[in-house]
Amino acid sequence: MPLGEFALIDRYFRAAGAPRADVVLGVGDDGAILRPPAGHDLIAVSDTLVEGVHFPVGSPAASVGHRALAVNLSDLAAMGATPAWALLALTLPRVEEAWLEDFARGFSALAREHEVALVGGDTTRGPLMINVQLLGFVPAGQGLRRSGASPGDLLCVSGTPGDAAAGLKYIQESDLRSSSSALADAWRTLQRRFEYPTPRVDLGRYLATIASACIDVSDGLAGDIDKMLAASRCAAIIDIDALPRSGALGALVAAGTLSRHEALRLTLGGGDDYELAFCVPAARRATLDELLRQGAVSLIGEVVVLENSATARLGFRSSRPGEALSELLETSAGFDHFAV
Ligand code: ADP
Ligand code: MG
Repeated sequence: MPLGEFALIDRYFRAAGAPRADVVLGVGDDGAILRPPAGHDLIAVSDTLVEGVHFPVGSPAASVGHRALAVNLSDLAAMGATPAWALLALTLPRVEEAWLEDFARGFSALAREHEVALVGGDTTRGPLMINVQLLGFVPAGQGLRRSGASPGDLLCVSGTPGDAAAGLKYIQESDLRSSSSALADAWRTLQRRFEYPTPRVDLGRYLATIASACIDVSDGLAGDIDKMLAASRCAAIIDIDALPRSGALGALVAAGTLSRHEALRLTLGGGDDYELAFCVPAARRATLDELLRQGAVSLIGEVVVLENSATARLGFRSSRPGEALSELLETSAGFDHFAV
C-alpha cells in the first residue's frame, strides 16, 4: 500500500497502546529496541485473524481490533506471563479511515488496559487479515505449560465457556434476532462475549504460582482440555453437572430457546471464549478453594491416570442417568476422542 502508508501508520498506530519505559525505540525505525527486565524469560506468541474465517465479514472494526490483541493476550495468560510489547501486521483491502480509526480504538483500549506498547508492525494491501505478535515475560523458570498435569490434580476453568459460540450463533442466524425482548438482552450479552472477549491475564499470572498446567480455551473446552492432557500424558474425568453456565445462556435454556443438550454442546465444543483451563495439585486445594470462592473459576473434574495411550483421554460423569453424552460429544466441534 504505497500511497499514504506512512501517514496511515503515523495517524493510527504511532501512539496506539501504552507508553512503556522499557521501549528504547518504538514505531518508526526498521526495528524496535526493547529492554527486557533482568532475571526474566521472554514469552513470545502470535495469532492471526482472517476476515470470514476468524470473524464474520462486516464485524465492527473496534471488535476486530480488540479481538486481534485479546487472542494473543489470552495465549500469554495461559503461559502465566505479563504482557509488554506488541507488533501489528495489518493487511487491508483498502484504506478506509473510519474503519481504521475504530480498529485502532478497539486495539488501543485493550492495550492500555494491560499496559501493552505497540512497538512496530507492517502494513500491506490484500484481503483483510490481522496478525499480532505479543511479547511478555515471566520470572526466569516460571513459564506455565500444558505439560505439567499429574493424576490427582484438580481440573478447573475460568468464566463461562460456550457464551462466545452462542453469541456467534446469534450474529450468524438472522432468524434469532426476532426473539422476544427479554431474550434479545441475553443474546446481545452473548454477542458481546464473542466480540469483546476478556483475556484472563491477571488470573494467568496468579496461576503461574499454583497451577501444574494451563491452556487457553480458544477452540472449544473439551478439545483444548484434551490438548493439555495429551501434553501431560494424562486423562481426566469431567463432571458435566459442574460445568459453569452464564446467566445469559441459562436464560435461553430456561425459555426453551436452547435445549440443555445444545447449551452443553456450546459449552464443551464452542470456541472463541479465551478462558483458561488449568490443573492444580490436590495439595494446593486450600489455595484453590479461595479462588473458587471468588467465583471467577469453577472446579469441573479431576486428572486421572492415562490407562493406555490408545484410549480416549476424556471421560464424563453426569447425575442424569441416560444423558446422551456420547452423541453430544461426538457433535462437539474440534473434538474427536470420546470415552463415555
Ligand atoms: P520497513 O520498510 O523497514 O519494513 P515500514 O515502512 O514497513 O518499515 O514501517 C515503518 C515503521 O512503522 C516501522 O517501525 C514499523 O514497525 C512500523 N509499522 C508499520 N506498520 C505498522 C502497524 N500497522 N502498526 C504499528 N507499526 C507499524
Ligand atoms: Mg526495514
